[in-house]
Amino acid sequence: MKGKVVILGGGIAGISAKLVNRNAVLIDKSRYMIMAPCLIDVVSGYPEEHAMINRNVDIIDNIKNVDFKNKSIILDNNTVEYEKLIIALGPSQNYSFINGSEYVYGLSSLEGAIKIRERLKTSKDVIIIGGGYLGVEIAGAIKNKNITVIERAEKLLTGLPENLSTHAEKILREKHVKIIYGSTVKSVGKDSVITSDNEYNSDLTLFAGGLTGNKIIGNFDITNKNLKIVVDKYLKSVDYEDVYACGDSMFIENKGNIPMSAIIARSAGITAMHNALGYMREFRNDNWINVIEIGNNYFGTLNNSFINGGTAKFLKKAAIALSVNYARSV
Ligand SMILES: Cc1cc2nc3c(=O)[nH]c(=O)nc-3n(C[C@H](O)[C@H](O)[C@H](O)COP(=O)(O)OP(=O)(O)OC[C@H]3O[C@@H](n4cnc5c(N)ncnc54)[C@H](O)[C@@H]3O)c2cc1C
Repeated sequence: MKGKVVILGGGIAGISAKLVNRNAVLIDKSRYMIMAPCLIDVVSGYPEEHAMINRNVDIIDNIKNVDFKNKSIILDNNTVEYEKLIIALGPSQNYSFINGSEYVYGLSSLEGAIKIRERLKTSKDVIIIGGGYLGVEIAGAIKNKNITVIERAEKLLTGLPENLSTHAEKILREKHVKIIYGSTVKSVGKDSVITSDNEYNSDLTLFAGGLTGNKIIGNFDITNKNLKIVVDKYLKSVDYEDVYACGDSMFIENKGNIPMSAIIARSAGITAMHNALGYMREFRNDNWINVIEIGNNYFGTLNNSFINGGTAKFLKKAAIALSVNYARSV
């Protein structure tokens, strides 16, 4: 099969690219798009269907590798040629460096969220490693357990404005979540976590950090950083003229770390497709809205101003509803 533009991955970035050019061939391993923000709801007890959005893809198959020299994609059941390629394969989570990683539960996939939901039914003491947005949201979603967040830095939500960190801390403390700052996890056992300065009981240890690009990118013959493809300001690979990357699959050279967020994934998917079609527009990293949800508390920034309560909740729900609508219209 030959397709002029082929998109690998039908998540937020991939469907945004497809909506710009419906002639592109969209390949994904699943019929369903997983709405990552809804994974937190699955952990808190929602059925998995809550996070699964039925959307159209042109080829449902597992992507194994890409032969960039011969411009072909190797799937489990097929080989697909491309003229232009957009890679949008999303994230994975790396915690294999933790001593005892087999006792750690990851948060980046639907399978992971289901496992945590089931395990929570018999757990009392929960340790969350990492106090970034994933860690604080998951701490807010888990009810009636002894929760401890272990964070290496001296504050929560590192990288986000200071007022968001203090607000998150206040809400978590009101919910009786213990927060340990400046502590590094040394090892994890079946029912314990050992840090640089203490030992804690843990029936369930969650890892809320270490988000990188998709592991599979490590097999590709292309320059990557943290399993994200290194691209220029047009989201074009620094190695191959006809290859673009977007969303959690892109690392823009000279730009440092860009947040892994749905808004950025959407605008990057659109830019990547425009440029694959020959327009060559610079990608603008405009993370104009950022909403954190801790239990039923919503807060964040809108164009750098603090927002809270009903406005923040409305914006978060509207953003999710919009993404669901985009997916359904593919
Ligand atoms: C738990 C969690 C909560 C989050 N909450 C928020 C939030 O509240 N707000 C926010 O802005 N951002 C949030 N994010 C981040 C946001 O979801 C991502 O930045 C965004 O989804 C990235 O879009 P993407 O298209 O790059 O990847 P994804 O949306 O992950 O899409 C990747 C696609 O690639 C497909 N794929 C992967 N590997 C293969 C393969 N080998 N073969 C075929 N197909 C494959 C997958 O099936 C998937 O459809 C959250 C992330 C997580 C993990």
